Amino acid sequence: MKVAGSRVGVVGGSIAGCAAAIALQRSGCDITVFERSSSGLRDRGAGIAIPNPLRESLIERDFLDADYPYWPAEERIWIVNDGSAPTGRVLWRQPGSASLNNWSILWMSLRSRVPDEIYRDGIRVEELEQSEAGVSVSFADGSHERFDVLVGADGYRSRIRSDMFPGIKPEYAGYVLWRGNYPEQRIVDRGPLDQADGSHSWHTICFPGGHGVIYMIPGEENRADVGHRRVNWAIYTKTPEGVSFDQPGSVSPGSLGSNLETQLRKLIDEHFPRWHAQLLELTKPGEISIQPIYDEMSPGYVAGRVLLIGDAGTVTRPHTGSGATKALQEAMLLEDLCREYGEWDPILEQYDMQRTEAGNSIVELGRRIGAAQVEHTPPWSTMTPADFEQWTKDTLSGTRLYFYGNLDDH
Ligand SMILES: Cc1cc2nc3c(=O)[nH]c(=O)nc-3n(C[C@H](O)[C@H](O)[C@H](O)COP(=O)(O)OP(=O)(O)OC[C@H]3O[C@@H](n4cnc5c(N)ncnc54)[C@H](O)[C@@H]3O)c2cc1C
Repeated sequence: MKVAGSRVGVVGGSIAGCAAAIALQRSGCDITVFERSSSGLRDRGAGIAIPNPLRESLIERDFLDADYPYWPAEERIWIVNDGSAPTGRVLWRQPGSASLNNWSILWMSLRSRVPDEIYRDGIRVEELEQSEAGVSVSFADGSHERFDVLVGADGYRSRIRSDMFPGIKPEYAGYVLWRGNYPEQRIVDRGPLDQADGSHSWHTICFPGGHGVIYMIPGEENRADVGHRRVNWAIYTKTPEGVSFDQPGSVSPGSLGSNLETQLRKLIDEHFPRWHAQLLELTKPGEISIQPIYDEMSPGYVAGRVLLIGDAGTVTRPHTGSGATKALQEAMLLEDLCREYGEWDPILEQYDMQRTEAGNSIVELGRRIGAAQVEHTPPWSTMTPADFEQWTKDTLSGTRLYFYGNLDDH
């Protein structure tokens, strides 16, 4: 079947769904996107990292505007709180480039390229059925539509994946990510922030059983200049008391409750240098959430005329900074394959082969980084820069990751 003129349904209108819709619409498909949320996704996101070459390609290929705002990171500073200074003791300055993004701005930039008439929100896909005639989709309101090809871009708890590969679902890694972000204008004591801005550094606070990261992202008015950004932070650590994440779910902003708030305050007091602790304490309760860490390998990305993209395909732990990256690379691959073959059969075959391998290998890498940086943390405070380099190379074990691009021989 030819790509041009084929009817394609996309389930999920977030990063992966919008990027897939852009790629396939340009390839001549007749696209409809179905997004279950009716309130829009823009207010819920926070910091997200992508590699610089990917951002450049997205601009070149008109997935993003030329003036798309991001904060350029050039160096990661690993810090421990040993009580010696209010800003902690620097253990390692690790060179490494990345673009730091505001999730909402990234999503809105993609969304603005998907015409409103093909983006239908407030619609939940319930069932699908494949036959010779294509893929029939049923919606929560009882209606049905038929497509030649269906794209499952419905995130880590994908309904589409569970239909294609019953029994495959994300597994809880046993630890969480506390997250928060707020406008930079709230900061009174800028401490080492001006210096960090000058060198485009971001901070990692090391402690036994986890670590925290703090970096700046563009702010509401799409501005990435100093004074107009948001402070974005995240802390990887064990499961807090009183919650269970055996079933996929999360604690959304504003629903923390006093027990969890107290546990977070204790965690910060115990492990963060005074200045960093004060920075985090400026976050209002409604700006804090808990993301339990899940991951999932996949037996495939394609079954019949249904393909997966983004978190629906494979779920990676956030350590690799690959959630959005993977989705965006997959959309660009789809566009390339459409241009190369123009027919769905070879496109689906190639896409399945390339993305199953790439997706599973990034899940593997996330597991190795999670083990090294959270589950079995090293004795950080005694490590020299040479120890850090060796530990990083051992963790990556021959794999490349843009965050660690300076380590030439891994
Ligand atoms: C609101 C939101 C905010 C996020 N913020 C961040 C962030 O700050 N930092 C970060 O690193 N990652 C964030 N993520 C995750 C990040 O978007 C993904 O890891 C990555 O970009 C891949 O995205 P995705 O489109 O595959 O999945 P997701 O972004 O999870 O999108 C899946 C979409 O599918 C929709 N959907 C699910 N089931 C159905 C159904 N049955 N019918 C119709 N629609 C359905 C969901 O409503 C959702 O919009 C966020 C995700 C969401 C949804």
